Amino acid sequence: MTPLIVYEAVGFLLGLILGSFLNVCIARLPRGESVVHPRSRCPNCGAAIRWYDNIPVVSWLLLRGRCRDCKFAIAAHYPLVEIGLGLWFMTQAAEIYSLVHFTHAGLSTSDLVSGVIAQSSIAILGFLLIGLMVMDWQTQLLPDAFTFGGIALSFLLVSVRSFLLAPDEDEVLLSSHHIQLSSPGSSSAQGNVFLTGPERLLSDWMFSVFCAVMILLLVRWIYRSLRHREGMGLGDVKLLALIAAFLGFWPAMLSLFIGALAASAYGLILLSRGKAGATSKLAFGSFLCAGGLIAALYGEKLINLYKTLL
Ligand SMILES: [Zn+2]
Repeated sequence: MTPLIVYEAVGFLLGLILGSFLNVCIARLPRGESVVHPRSRCPNCGAAIRWYDNIPVVSWLLLRGRCRDCKFAIAAHYPLVEIGLGLWFMTQAAEIYSLVHFTHAGLSTSDLVSGVIAQSSIAILGFLLIGLMVMDWQTQLLPDAFTFGGIALSFLLVSVRSFLLAPDEDEVLLSSHHIQLSSPGSSSAQGNVFLTGPERLLSDWMFSVFCAVMILLLVRWIYRSLRHREGMGLGDVKLLALIAAFLGFWPAMLSLFIGALAASAYGLILLSRGKAGATSKLAFGSFLCAGGLIAALYGEKLINLYKTLL
């Protein structure tokens, strides 16, 4: 049995390396530049960054946050993004560990693969949300490559998972009196099949994305009618659709709630310090991303807690 620490170490290292690539995306995507070409350069003196100065976190610490050639300060968000994604991948690797070693006994191989894909998509969502959070904060832009690209990727992953379902797994049955969900192993002879497992998974996905978009468009429209100005950009709508695509409808609503709460709190702090007026722009997308990250980690617990309160 592979120990947990191995999973966590591999996850952390992978997160650091992808975090380094994420920094390239953050610096270039909002400006419409390619993320593969040319090689990274110092934004101040233009000197190409040597490979040994490009090691995640370590190089930044060794160079004390300065360019080797011109001593220009390299922003602290570079190592922070790398460490953040490293920790994110580490927690997801730990989830995969418990899936493989503890739930394995009760799972078929295809269920296990499907579970690992589901957990890996949460890791990918972390990559996208951390990137979008920093990009929106710095540039007020949420590039389509991350929002639309992420939604497309999520659809692909759900499709793969739908192929892995057993023939009558997760189907929705329709009998004359009630709709019932079959559990694996139960007989499906009790009613007519209303939705097959794959249809259910894919329609859930589409319904979540559609409803998330509609709700935010509605909020946007109400805000515009009341205040006679644009409250949020279409980028925020695409961002919420991305969260719904990966996490489902209710976790996306939770993200919206947390994001709105955090943004309001931040706005009030700025107002009270006289640093903002009633018409100041706030990078709402960044707060929504933070809400999405919290919902991905604790969504299920928070939604259950809310249900017990009702
Ligand atoms: Zn330089």
